[in-house]
Amino acid sequence: MRFLRGAAGSALPRFENWSGSVVAHPRSFRRPTTAGAVAGLVADAAADGETLRVVGAGHSFSPVAATDGHLVSLDALAGIVAVDAAAKTVRFRAGTRLRDIPALLEPYGLSLPNQGDIDEQSLAGALSTGTHGTGLGFTGFAGLVTALQLVTADGRVRELDPTREPELFDHARLSVGALGVLTEIELQCVDAFDLVADEARIPFDEMVETLEDRARTCDHVDYYWFPYADEALAKSNTRVPPGAAGPYPDVRRRPRLQRLLAEEMLDNAGLGLVNELSRAVPAATPRINRFATVLASNRRYRGPAHEVFVSPRRVRFREMEYAVPFADGAEVLREVRAAIESSGRAVAFPLEVRTAGADDVPLSTATGRDSVYIAVHQYHAVEEAGYFRSVERVLRAAAGRPHWGKIHSLGAEDLSALYPRFDDFVRVRDAVDPGRLFGSRYLTHLFGS
Ligand SMILES: Cc1cc2nc3c(=O)[nH]c(=O)nc-3n(C[C@H](O)[C@H](O)[C@H](O)COP(=O)(O)OP(=O)(O)OC[C@H]3O[C@@H](n4cnc5c(N)ncnc54)[C@H](O)[C@@H]3O)c2cc1C
Repeated sequence: MRFLRGAAGSALPRFENWSGSVVAHPRSFRRPTTAGAVAGLVADAAADGETLRVVGAGHSFSPVAATDGHLVSLDALAGIVAVDAAAKTVRFRAGTRLRDIPALLEPYGLSLPNQGDIDEQSLAGALSTGTHGTGLGFTGFAGLVTALQLVTADGRVRELDPTREPELFDHARLSVGALGVLTEIELQCVDAFDLVADEARIPFDEMVETLEDRARTCDHVDYYWFPYADEALAKSNTRVPPGAAGPYPDVRRRPRLQRLLAEEMLDNAGLGLVNELSRAVPAATPRINRFATVLASNRRYRGPAHEVFVSPRRVRFREMEYAVPFADGAEVLREVRAAIESSGRAVAFPLEVRTAGADDVPLSTATGRDSVYIAVHQYHAVEEAGYFRSVERVLRAAAGRPHWGKIHSLGAEDLSALYPRFDDFVRVRDAVDPGRLFGSRYLTHLFGS
């Protein structure tokens, strides 16, 4: 997130998200340091008839955090509140950044059970949009929540768990910030573990044909496929006890140059170059993509889980991601490939394919069903709308559910058909925020007025 106070001659602060696609001018920007101070800001906004939204790291591609009302950051509300070593549950302040969690958990020998591709996000932001990693045996962040502290529109600081206000707890685990301000989050953690990573190029057809089997037999599988290429990169991560000696190089001890090359080749500088070449000569994109795929070398390494799950993302892009039913994933992938390649579009950004197990979080993209996630990306300097629309048609026809923090075109009517408990969510929202203190134009589009 870039946040410029009173930018460009304006008296108002200016908010811009990570990808640069969302800009807003909130009427104020505050960083409270306690839950009580948050409650005070909420009470003031309510008294003035204003709206209030919270921003985490501003890493959502959709305008979920945008507001022209009051904007609040919980960056100053970070760190651990309490640890239950026996239950392996940890209570964090809601503004804690994911990147800080491994060091916070290290003294307790604990770890997050799973992670996504980056760790810049705030814990509350990750929860509130259904952020996930990959692995059929795992859920996204919202599925790990065991208790919450939530400041609601009436200014109350409420303690929620499966026994205290169970219905509000259930929905507040993933609410796109529509039910109040999360100030504390308790998560189910696990014993710290290492990952053995195995990265290999495989034919696209093999990726599709073995998608189901690999997801069932490997802990965490993640695929990257450049349109028009016949091969994909399969990343398979296997969980092992921490420090377990293995025949593979430790990711932390790789020579600096080797590590830089691995990080830059396809994820960063190399990917930027590929996209600039494709922009300059769009007709050459299929050849550029095939060449970029060949550059991905097969390799094996190991390291602490967070070092292997997460990698830097320095090339700006826009993203749309849908979760489709697990059993349909392979067929949908073939259809997505056909839609892209028959259009001849110049897309030089890989698609990403992941999985997650079913959970019981009402607005989770994986609620009630095992899922395959299909994500499409476009370089920030290239218009993405036509590309995303054409792929979205395929994903919607497959009853796909869009990621709440990424770009999509769905509104309340479409979403209510995709989520069995959507109406319950709206009813709970009506009860706790009848005046839409936590509302915004985009939330009205998502959940109705
Ligand atoms: C480079 C990149 C990589 C990504 N990789 C992944 C990935 O691997 N997997 C994945 O699933 N997603 C991924 N995402 C998407 C990202 O995880 C989500 O958009 C996430 O919400 C961003 O977290 P944030 O802290 O930036 O939240 P923001 O974007 O700032 O906010 C998201 C929502 O959370 C709400 N919110 C924030 N804090 C609070 C609070 N305290 N109380 C109530 N509501 C709150 C906001 O109001 C908003 O509605 C990626 C995004 C980028 C830019």
